[in-house]
Amino acid sequence: MNNENHFQNIISHAKEYGFVFPSSEIYDGLAAVYDYGQAGVELRRNLRDYWWKSMVQMHDNIVGLDAAIFMHPTTWKASGHVDSFSDPMVDNKDSKKRYRVDVLIEDFVEAHWQILLNGAKDIEVSKEKWDEIYSAQCQPTLDKMNKCLSENNFKGLNDLLTDLKIKCPISGTSNWTDVRQFNLMFSTQMGSVADDSDTIYLRPETAQGIFVNFLNVQKTGRMKIPFGIAQTGKAFRNEIVARQFIFRMREFEQMEMQFFVRPGSEMEWYNLWKQKRMAWHKSLGIPENKLRFHDHTKLAHYANAAVDIEFEFPFGFKEVEGIHSRTDFDLKQHEKYSKKKMQYFDNDVNPETGKPYGNYVPFVVETSVGLDRLFLLTLSNAFEEQILPKEDGTTDSRSVLHLPPILSPYKAAILPLMKKDGLPEAAKEIADGLRKHYNIFYEEKDTIGKRYRRMDALGTPFCICVDHQTLQDQTVTVRHRDSMTQDRISIAEIKTMIDKAVEIF
Ligand code: ATP
Repeated sequence: MNNENHFQNIISHAKEYGFVFPSSEIYDGLAAVYDYGQAGVELRRNLRDYWWKSMVQMHDNIVGLDAAIFMHPTTWKASGHVDSFSDPMVDNKDSKKRYRVDVLIEDFVEAHWQILLNGAKDIEVSKEKWDEIYSAQCQPTLDKMNKCLSENNFKGLNDLLTDLKIKCPISGTSNWTDVRQFNLMFSTQMGSVADDSDTIYLRPETAQGIFVNFLNVQKTGRMKIPFGIAQTGKAFRNEIVARQFIFRMREFEQMEMQFFVRPGSEMEWYNLWKQKRMAWHKSLGIPENKLRFHDHTKLAHYANAAVDIEFEFPFGFKEVEGIHSRTDFDLKQHEKYSKKKMQYFDNDVNPETGKPYGNYVPFVVETSVGLDRLFLLTLSNAFEEQILPKEDGTTDSRSVLHLPPILSPYKAAILPLMKKDGLPEAAKEIADGLRKHYNIFYEEKDTIGKRYRRMDALGTPFCICVDHQTLQDQTVTVRHRDSMTQDRISIAEIKTMIDKAVEIF
């Protein structure tokens, strides 16, 4: 099956089993906005909880925060978002479609690269040779593009589009407008009078809520540098190229942690967080070859080092998390615009001077992961359409989500074999006992085989079947999702089995 079909099947699966629905679907949806259904909301919450536990609960120098979505408008002036949170865009005059110029160029280079790879598929070419070909044939275009982007050279970007003869995927023509900047922030009006002074923005990142509260948290929490503040919450971006399902949304959730450090020590912490965050993704069972680092060549206005963690989605390697050394840019900007000190007094002794480090504006290392992208990563990694050979020589098939049990929407399904003979009552008693601890699915409709398949599709690790023997000896059949093998255990052992499966720290 090709990757496009595989991706479409993941999207259909997400809808069919109540993970993700298009927003306001009865009105034909709203582009790049999605709702999470009954199974999706659980998986998403489990991902968020796992992140929160590993960030806040497992670090005694990281605390949480929940700042409001609306912030004083000057926040976004200070952070640079009003002036420079924009993408260079271009419109095709024939199709009337708008594109991000960097995406058009990157897609063009990727397509060219695929043609080269396909053209040589029957020839043995070493990895070194391929690297050499890439450096000669693809990298120079990307370098030119990055240079134009970093210098805001729109004429250069226009020239690149022309030189490369890039065409609109819809109209097939190169009839482009001039490249222009397009701000990605949504704005609205606060109060009843709509004049300019009331314009406020929906936050495009959660980080600024952390920066403006830096001293509140530091003082009231008596935090000593180095320390971190973690936050999860909605962010909004008026993305132009909204595609690839929940990969790029206009309303999405971020999970960010800003780590405040002594100036000069930021690269040490940056490297540490880079490794820690990669290890975190692997702890969720993502295979090593599906994850990679991608260093930024074009740094954002606030960063002195930046790297993405990329995952191999069905549509290629793409960013799921950014790790940025944000210097003291944000705190200094807020000092400047608010005229309030954003300094920390460090009374640890500097061994070089023999005196305390004293007052300074801390440097910041940020880890920022999109919860919805992580959700898509998790689904893409877990989803499998299996062909199962049967004893009579024919085949059967199933769709299964191999989710790590800690993330599964339901930890177990309790299924009475039949809807009679007291089996539902016995099964309900078991379900009610477990419900206090875990999200449990109870189901008595359909054949047991069909119910197993439904649980596979939801990623439920254990199906507990209650049969006539249960009434006699208090044992049940456990059917395991991935191996489809079955064991007989006592009712008393069920909780310990689930406890063990969801243990991760
Ligand atoms: P991209 O280059 O894909 O637009 P970005 O570099 O602008 O992403 P950051 O500003 O670093 O993203 O945001 C941190 C994280 O937030 C990203 O790694 C991603 O997981 C998530 N994120 C950013 N924009 C979106 C979006 N439109 N939809 C869903 N998640 C997003």
